[in-house]
Amino acid sequence: MLMMTDLNTAARHISAEQQAPLTIAIIGGGPAGLASAIFLRSKLSADCSILLFDSQKEDKLKVGESIPPAATPVLRKLFGEQLKSIFAEHLECPGSISLWGSDTPGHNDFIFELDGAGYHLNRTLFEQQLKQRVLSAGVVCHDQYRLCNIEPNNSGFTLEFATAEGNQQWDADFVVDASGAGSFFTRKLGVARNILDSVLFLCAEFDLPDSIDMLDHTLVEAVSDGWWYSARLPHNRLMVTFCTDAEHVKLSACDQAEFWLEKLKQTSWLQSRIPMAEIAEQMSETTIITRAATSFIMSNVIGERWLAVGDAACGFDPISSAGITKALLQSERASSAISEWAGGSMDALSGYQDQVFNDFNQYVGLRSQLYASETRFAGQRYWSQRVF
Ligand SMILES: Cc1cc2nc3c(=O)[nH]c(=O)nc-3n(C[C@H](O)[C@H](O)[C@H](O)COP(=O)(O)OP(=O)(O)OC[C@H]3O[C@@H](n4cnc5c(N)ncnc54)[C@H](O)[C@@H]3O)c2cc1C
Repeated sequence: MLMMTDLNTAARHISAEQQAPLTIAIIGGGPAGLASAIFLRSKLSADCSILLFDSQKEDKLKVGESIPPAATPVLRKLFGEQLKSIFAEHLECPGSISLWGSDTPGHNDFIFELDGAGYHLNRTLFEQQLKQRVLSAGVVCHDQYRLCNIEPNNSGFTLEFATAEGNQQWDADFVVDASGAGSFFTRKLGVARNILDSVLFLCAEFDLPDSIDMLDHTLVEAVSDGWWYSARLPHNRLMVTFCTDAEHVKLSACDQAEFWLEKLKQTSWLQSRIPMAEIAEQMSETTIITRAATSFIMSNVIGERWLAVGDAACGFDPISSAGITKALLQSERASSAISEWAGGSMDALSGYQDQVFNDFNQYVGLRSQLYASETRFAGQRYWSQRVF
C-alpha cells in the first residue's frame, strides 16, 4: 500500500516533469464510466486525451432501473437543458409502497422531495443517452475492448485489451477503474475487497397490456426468505424481482421459472397489485435472470495515477436504490480530484477516497436500519443473517 507521503512526492514529480498532454483511460462504460468521461471532458484541458474502453456485448441485459429524486441534480449537470426531453423517454416514479415491518402497506411519496420525482429507467436507453453525451463531448470510445492485463510503467500503466481483432496495448498516464463490481483494474493491483454481505436477485421482465391500470410506484413486500419488488418500466414493461440468498436458491430452486412463480403467488399483498394472469401467461417464455448484489468496499480506491469509481469502488445492496446515483455522484467528485491531480496536487485524490469511505459507512448504517426494521420474520434464516 502507498503511504500518503509517497503519493505527494509522486504528485510533485508529475507536475515538474509532465510536459506532454495527459492520456486518461476509463475502464468500463456503465453509468460510472460514462459520467466520469463527461465530467472529465468538461474539467480537463482540450489537449488531454480521454479514452473509454468497455467490454460489454450488445446482447447483455443490464438490471437496475430505479433512481430516486436525489439523482436529479447530478443528472441536470450531465444532460443540461436536454434533461427534460431525455427523461420524457423514461417513466416517472412517484415513490414506493412497501409491506415491510408491518402488515399494512407504508408509503414513501417523492412528492415531498425538493428535487422532484424519481424515475424507472429503460436502463439500456439511459446508458445509450449517456454514451451520446460522451461521444458529442469528443471522448474516444472503444467498444468490446476487455481489459485483460495491466503493467505499471514509469509514467502510468500499459493496458492490454482483448478485442475481436486480437490483443491491443495502450499507455495511460492515469486510469479510472469503472469496471463495475468486478473491480478488474483495482483487483489486478492487488487491492483487497472487504465483503459485508451478498444476496441474489432473481429478475424477470414482462409485457403489460396497453389498457392496464397499474400504479407507477415501486412496490415492495418482505417475505420470510427475502423480499420482492416490482417496478413498472417505460414502454409497458414490468420488472418483478425476488431478492434472497444463495442458500435459499439452492434449497428451493426458485431460480427456475415455475418455482419463482409459485413463490410470487404466495406473497400476501404484491400479487394483488400486479397482473398475475399476464405474468403466468408469459412465464413459459420468460427467463429468470440471476444477479448477485454484494455489499463491499475496496481497501483502497485511489493510488498513484489511478482511482476507482462506482461499483468498482464499492457495492450497495439494491435495497438502497442508490447504486446508479452513487456512481454518478462519485464520478463528478472523481473527475474534480483527477483534474486537481493533473494540476500537481495529490490531496484531492485522498479527499475523494475519504468521501467514498464516508459514504460507504453511511450506507452500512442505512442498510442495517432497513433490515432491522423488518421484525415479523426475525427468527428466519434470511433475516437473521442480514441483521448484524
Ligand atoms: C439486481 C440488481 C438490481 C439493481 N437495482 C438498482 C436500482 O433499482 N437502482 C439503482 O440505482 N441501482 C441498482 N442496482 C445497482 C446498479 O445497477 C449499479 O450500482 C450500477 O450499475 C453501477 O454502475 P457502474 O458504472 O459502476 O458499473 P456497471 O454498470 O456494472 O458498469 C461496468 C461496465 O464495465 C464494463 N467492464 C467490466 N469489466 C471490464 C473490463 N475488464 N474491461 C472493460 N470493460 C469492463 C462492463 O461491461 C460494464 O459495462 C442494481 C443492481 C442489481 C445487481
